[in-house]
Amino acid sequence: RENILELKDVVYSFHTYGGEVQAVRDVSFEVRKGEILGIVGESGCGKSVTAQCIMRLNPEPPGFFKGGEILFNGKDVLKMTKTELNNMRREDIGFVFQDPMTSLNPTMRIGAQIEEVFRGRKDVTKKEVKEKALEIMKLVGISDVEKRYRQYPHELSGGMKQRVMIAIALVSRPSMIICDEPTTSLDVTIEAQILDLLLELREKLGTSIIMITHDLGVIARLCDRVVVMYGGKIVEKGTVQEIFYETAHPYTKGLMESIARLDTEKGEKLKPIEGTPPDLFSPPKGCPFAARCEYAMDVCHELPPEQYLLSEEHNTCCWLQHEYAPETELKKPVIG
Ligand code: SF4
Ligand code: MG
Repeated sequence: RENILELKDVVYSFHTYGGEVQAVRDVSFEVRKGEILGIVGESGCGKSVTAQCIMRLNPEPPGFFKGGEILFNGKDVLKMTKTELNNMRREDIGFVFQDPMTSLNPTMRIGAQIEEVFRGRKDVTKKEVKEKALEIMKLVGISDVEKRYRQYPHELSGGMKQRVMIAIALVSRPSMIICDEPTTSLDVTIEAQILDLLLELREKLGTSIIMITHDLGVIARLCDRVVVMYGGKIVEKGTVQEIFYETAHPYTKGLMESIARLDTEKGEKLKPIEGTPPDLFSPPKGCPFAARCEYAMDVCHELPPEQYLLSEEHNTCCWLQHEYAPETELKKPVIG
């Protein structure tokens, strides 16, 4: 399938009083048309910053690109003019944030917030704009749309507000939406409904979706492929099946053991990953996970691990895949 988005060796940092924070380090991945790609990792692993880089939403300065390319439909986002960027943000990519309470304007009616994107446009009439708003509200499963259209955010439940956020992201019919922890503040029943809605929208509209989450349960339910990030780097990448059933990276394994799985026996203890993520002011010279890794070897502290290709879609950066590394349950046949 064709790529809609390609990140190639993206390096992104922030200037701070304490020095340079290297938030995104050599990140490469692609999103294909109509695909749902998950980006998973603990907080502070660089997943949100990476997502915001795609739309240039991080404030620059203090943020800045040190290298790489971000191609959206073949066009480099890092070379776009202000107008091109604004058009892309308005028309081509929608963004759904974690917290609808802070992203919705409390003083504006729902309808007006959905219609914001058309403000100043002379090619659509007021009536057409309202029709588009009502249509998208129905599409995201909001009932009683005429009434909701006139309501304010505080009159809506959390799940309904998140549907409004998705409506706002979709009203210009973008080819891609980026969702950053969109269900984290919702209870599990509402979360399941929102995830089903995203699947349905992909089915109906063919929208590509990037789902940022710390929750492997969300990944399992929604995604086709997964990127696992740690310390600003991608440590493993593959199809959902490969990530869950042919886990190759100790960090991914740690994430799996730290979540409640459906097949977890009662009384079986979940195992949190000990320790804290690396300091991104001065990242370790070897593997970013070395300080927390139960498999760490001498080489891990000295040299950044190479990338090993395990299948067409599956790769990982970990010395355990080296031909001379000891046999472990994580070692897989390497194809390149
Ligand atoms: Fe652990 Fe070494 Fe692999 Fe890093 S490279 S994840 S420290 S085994
Ligand atoms: Mg985040």
